[in-house]
Amino acid sequence: MQIVTGKTDSVPASVAATADWQQALKSAVREPDELIDRLQLPARYLAPARQAAREFPVFAPLDFISRMEPGNPHDPLLRQVLPLDLELSPGEKDRKDPLEEASAIQTPGLLQKYAGRALLIAAGACAIHCRYCFRRHFPYQEAPRSLAAWQPALQMLADDPSLDEVLLSGGDPLTLVDSQLGALMSQIAGIEHICRLRIHTRLPIVIPERVTDELLANLKGNRLTMFVVVHANHPAEIDDRVGVGLRRLLDQGITVLNQAVLLKGVNDSLDALVGLSRQLINLGVVPYYLHQLDHVAGASHFEVPVSQGRQLVKAMREHLPGYAVPRYVVEKPGGSSKEVIS
Ligand SMILES: *Cc1c(COP(=O)(O)O)cnc(C)c1O
Ligand code: SF4
Repeated sequence: MQIVTGKTDSVPASVAATADWQQALKSAVREPDELIDRLQLPARYLAPARQAAREFPVFAPLDFISRMEPGNPHDPLLRQVLPLDLELSPGEKDRKDPLEEASAIQTPGLLQKYAGRALLIAAGACAIHCRYCFRRHFPYQEAPRSLAAWQPALQMLADDPSLDEVLLSGGDPLTLVDSQLGALMSQIAGIEHICRLRIHTRLPIVIPERVTDELLANLKGNRLTMFVVVHANHPAEIDDRVGVGLRRLLDQGITVLNQAVLLKGVNDSLDALVGLSRQLINLGVVPYYLHQLDHVAGASHFEVPVSQGRQLVKAMREHLPGYAVPRYVVEKPGGSSKEVIS
């Protein structure tokens, strides 16, 4: 396990440069052959990976890949990005839109399921393609991509005084460049009844350089109370450089939470879950949710039975401070909140 120092005075100057994270996105691995080659995996992984990648392409930044163990097809980080033959035989409960999100779309790019908070699809792209993703079939191409295109969604937020929190999600909202993100955030801050902004992003985990000075300035530079919810599933995702980026967010007074998905072959063990929580709380990041996997077509091989999930969370409680045990939740279509299992 990595030791995270959490010291921010050792940040190299390059951490702050926008060009770096954009370059990291450009150089991400998009070909199953290259992923398999880099990880020195047996050739039998090739054909199924190529076939499954047609449904949902491979996308894995080199930085994330560098945290994997070469030659290990069961590496918990690799499992999250490598298309397997198991994706090609969908389970019977699987659906393309498992949460019936299509019916929660208020206007293009705006989802509201729960009272008081609405979710803006701020970007269609992600910095990584997670094979288990519940939004892998989401019609992102229909979501707005410019300030002008967001106006109907912003207008709906402005017209609804019952809302006091906006979530930026996607895709990954931090794939937007800082200037665009800053412009979107100030428009949201201009809506009087909105008090809090929450950004759901995997980028600080996948490409730690994304935590640029300009991003920090944007997050600090308006009146909204900021929450950043990152997404890491396994302790090996949080190396020293990721720790530095997370500390930079925390040092701005931003609350940083983590959500994870309970995934067979990735984190379905007490060691992985306790290790993840320890890594997070040592930095000051609060484990928020542990999600039960949604029934999305092509991901059923990641499913951990709820009974096993309950036992794991119970065991976590015996090893960790109370605040380090995430709420184990499942999302039911049409529910008025996520449902706490344990
Ligand atoms: C998960 C989710 C939220 C946030 O729910 P919290 O329980 O507040 O974290 C909000 N809107 C939508 C559409 C969601 O899927
Ligand atoms: S980063 Fe999030 S939205 Fe994007 S593929 Fe992964 S789980 Fe899905």
